[in-house]
Amino acid sequence: MLAAKNLEVVYDDVMLVLRGVGLEVPQGRIVALLGANGAGKSTLLRALSGLLDVHDGEVRRGSITLDGEPIHTYDASRIAALGIKQVMEGRRILADLTVEENLRIGGHVSPRSIRTNLDRTYQLFPVLADRRRKLAGYLSGGEQQMLAIGRALMSDPKYLLLDEPSLGLAPMIVRQIRDVIVQINQQGTTVLLVEQNAAMALAIAEHGYVLENGAVVMDKPAADLLADGDVREFYLGLG
Ligand code: ATP
Repeated sequence: MLAAKNLEVVYDDVMLVLRGVGLEVPQGRIVALLGANGAGKSTLLRALSGLLDVHDGEVRRGSITLDGEPIHTYDASRIAALGIKQVMEGRRILADLTVEENLRIGGHVSPRSIRTNLDRTYQLFPVLADRRRKLAGYLSGGEQQMLAIGRALMSDPKYLLLDEPSLGLAPMIVRQIRDVIVQINQQGTTVLLVEQNAAMALAIAEHGYVLENGAVVMDKPAADLLADGDVREFYLGLG
């Protein structure tokens, strides 16, 4: 299980962005993290991935553990080596490299596992196989998101942290991404899914958290969140 406890994050010494956040991502699950713009969702993912500067005081209090082992003092590469991999918001693919070159960069392991993981990625995203020799910069937004997810899968992560994978994509592509997240999970990868698209996230997650102003205000099974009046009004637009 990946867990955060009482996590406080401060930017620029003054701005308290996470105010004692607790979150649990049990192995094998899909957990959704919802919240408005600026609530602190990306910051929480960055903390879990080791991208915040602990020594500089950005993580001011609290802990992050993986199967009980404190990891919040580890740097990003050590956390990645433990199998925790983040797909950043905005995709961040390398536009001047081909699709396959982008994927190969993601798999810093043995040539054999690169082949296995490439096959798996192409199976999940057949469109990437069709475009493998194309420059990534020429892909559509949805294909670039698929490539970003595929690249993270190349290292065969235990925990995949997805930051707004549906952002800016057409409904049909969102459904494709949603279905692939389910498949990835069924293949054994645990998923923490940050989404503004609450309907999509809660449709596939077992459990969800709602973050507001850097604090967890709801922590419930996804079905309960879907039935909650405030969630329906503010996050599903069904008020
Ligand atoms: P969004 O969906 O817009 O990304 P979010 O819930 O992911 O929102 P964060 O990106 O974590 O929220 O941002 C939380 C707050 O911290 C915001 O007010 C943001 O402006 C601020 N912030 C984010 N990154 C930094 C940074 N590196 N330095 C200073 N402030 C930051």
